[in-house]
Amino acid sequence: STPLLEVRDLAMRFPGGVKAVDGVGFEVAQGETLGLVGESGCGKSTTGRMIVRLLEPTSGTVHLNGQDITHLSRRELLPLRASMQMIFQDPLSSLNPRHTVSQIVAGPRRVLDRDQVIELLERVGLAPEHADRFPHEFSGGQAQRVGIARALANGPELIVCDEAVSALDVSIRAQIINLLSDLQEERGLAYLFIAHDLSIVRHVCTRVAVMYLGRIVEIGPVASLYADPAHPYTRALLSAVPVADPRIEAVRERIVLRGDPPSPAAPPPGCSFHPRCALAQRRCEVEAPQLREVRGRKVACHYAEISG
Ligand code: SF4
Ligand code: MG
Repeated sequence: STPLLEVRDLAMRFPGGVKAVDGVGFEVAQGETLGLVGESGCGKSTTGRMIVRLLEPTSGTVHLNGQDITHLSRRELLPLRASMQMIFQDPLSSLNPRHTVSQIVAGPRRVLDRDQVIELLERVGLAPEHADRFPHEFSGGQAQRVGIARALANGPELIVCDEAVSALDVSIRAQIINLLSDLQEERGLAYLFIAHDLSIVRHVCTRVAVMYLGRIVEIGPVASLYADPAHPYTRALLSAVPVADPRIEAVRERIVLRGDPPSPAAPPPGCSFHPRCALAQRRCEVEAPQLREVRGRKVACHYAEISG
């Protein structure tokens, strides 16, 4: 069957030739959550913005329910806006400060009436009297609930959550994640869940894609990727995630990556991870690894079989 979202060979080249995203591809099924993880600057937000068409890709394609939406005009996109929504890291800066919550949630075309707005506010954990308040009167967690209500107003099929819980306190974060999971079950939503931290995505995602310098280096089911990461970069990211069980902590060594991620303006040749990779060989400096099937997932590393 046709996946809800199909992304093929997506690329974004900014002026000056910087490749922020360099050939990214994946699918998201209806009702599924795909995590998209990597350090800041790896291109995950740009990927999310291209998918909901806040940015137009330089090349590659985005299909939604089988329809190619890659180069639709603003007007052609309008009817699809309902299907794809985005939730941002900083809810306050993404909510119009001069509009009441009611106006924000109802939207410029007032798709919802007052009762529907209040019903939606209550569903996301807010109170009816919140409808007449302004965004600055809310805490970060409450503002994110407003952002979620706004995203839900049009009955979307896909929500791109860009670091949607990263800035929240741990206890609030858990509440918002639970809310997103409940809404997903209730409404059959699919999420593309963007985060820099693998510990955040673990409990919300079915599959995870790990990005490095504009490319996916590993993509696969959550359980196997966490239990047995095949790419050295995934292993390094995972080694920084605290585990609850000290017996596991004891056998898992913290891998500290050498140096900062290189600039996307001047990616290293060959495998772009090679300057930071403890396993790098001569081949890695000259030949870029392609994604290929390894142990039930896809990995872009020449030595994925022997590592681990
Ligand atoms: Fe490391 Fe080489 Fe694998 Fe790249 S291809 S991750 S440099 S071992
Ligand atoms: Mg970002």
